[in-house]
Amino acid sequence: MSTIFGQIVSGDIPARVVYEDETTLAFLDANPLAPGHTLVIPKEEYERLNHVPDDVASDLYATLHRVVPAVEEAVDADATTVAFNNGEAAGQEVPHVHGHVIPRFEGDGGGP
Ligand code: 5GP
Repeated sequence: MSTIFGQIVSGDIPARVVYEDETTLAFLDANPLAPGHTLVIPKEEYERLNHVPDDVASDLYATLHRVVPAVEEAVDADATTVAFNNGEAAGQEVPHVHGHVIPRFEGDGGGP
């Protein structure tokens, strides 16, 4: 049984997709920390960053590179926090690698 993100990739669970290509997917977080909070994942399921093969890691970075400015523009953010919770002890709840793209606003007081 795949994780909830695997089910989003297969279309079994709906998500608001903001970008998709052959190997990666970006969609809005269901419980956003800020408007436009987006998750970027490899379509293939890997639990941790060090499990992701180099070519997929490169695709994942390329998608982040594309999605970060698009999200900033969409919500008129001043900046972005990009973060991976890599492992349960770091707060990773879904065991399918995902990068958080969190729009930031001057004086919002958030951040890791
Ligand atoms: P983690 O704590 O694993 O780094 O982050 C998991 C993220 O996935 C959380 O921010 C949570 O809101 C989001 N999330 C959990 N379930 C779903 C879902 O079914 N759909 C979407 N779009 N996001 C989800």
